[in-house]
Amino acid sequence: MYKIEKSSELSMISREIRNVQKRTIGFVPTMGALHEGHLSLIRFSKEKSDFTIASIFVNPTQFNNPEDYTHYPRQLEMDIQLLEEAGCDLVFLPTYDEIYPEGTSRLPHYELGYLETIMEGKHRPEHFQGVCQVVHRLLSIVEPDYLFLGEKDLQQCKVIEHLIKLTGLEDKMRLIICPTLREQDGLAMSSRNLRLTPEQRKSAPLLFKALSELKAGFGAADYPKLKANLLNHLQQHSFEVHYLELANSDTLEILNGWNLQVSNTACIAATIGKVRLIDNIRLFSKGE
Ligand code: AMP
Repeated sequence: MYKIEKSSELSMISREIRNVQKRTIGFVPTMGALHEGHLSLIRFSKEKSDFTIASIFVNPTQFNNPEDYTHYPRQLEMDIQLLEEAGCDLVFLPTYDEIYPEGTSRLPHYELGYLETIMEGKHRPEHFQGVCQVVHRLLSIVEPDYLFLGEKDLQQCKVIEHLIKLTGLEDKMRLIICPTLREQDGLAMSSRNLRLTPEQRKSAPLLFKALSELKAGFGAADYPKLKANLLNHLQQHSFEVHYLELANSDTLEILNGWNLQVSNTACIAATIGKVRLIDNIRLFSKGE
């Protein structure tokens, strides 16, 4: 596996692979502290593309909470080993200066509209601007044919889908959204799970359980009542719930109740102690 730190070097390699060798490139951007969820994206990429590139960069501009950035888990050596074992072809390990050569004070603003006003957008001001800044930069360096993202961060997937259109990259690359990998007890795999105390780790699957109860009640239960009960239950188990929403799976428009005219996804974000976790599950797929 190649390990590349310089953007200019990666651009050169990527052009050689695409234009000279005529091979397709799959790209998996990450912030490291890799787990099976990340590695599943590498496997999807290997299946679909000829050459797989991963990146590891803990992007400061997407952290609205400085403490979250400082405590974000970092385990570079182990990550490199995991990527090597998964058969990744190249890992990009840029420094801050490689991503933000002109600093971060005059970065572009992206028009994200409605997507930035709900759920993660509402609760983490500027977060999606930071996501777009880093992803736009990475895409311009790597120029992949396929971009692999995890559905666990569904709103992020929608934001990046929008970014691809906004920046005219639609014809050049395809976004592939991959399913969420979970621990045996249902907890969505996340780098932040490493920060949970044993006690918090025991409670953490309650988020998935709440989403599963919405799925079980879909179309039949009284939605506002069920939602209120679930919020109450989570609060009793020391969660501070930032939101629990029912959304149109395609547009993420917030729904006030079950809606059989569109696909429905339930989304949740909550902190337990100092750790913020998010998750979502599809409750209903229209046309199935
Ligand atoms: P991160 O390192 O958290 O920025 O995540 C990098 C990529 O891995 C993103 O596209 C995430 O959506 C994806 N990802 C994170 N957790 C999971 C999971 N449990 N299952 C599948 N993909 C995931």
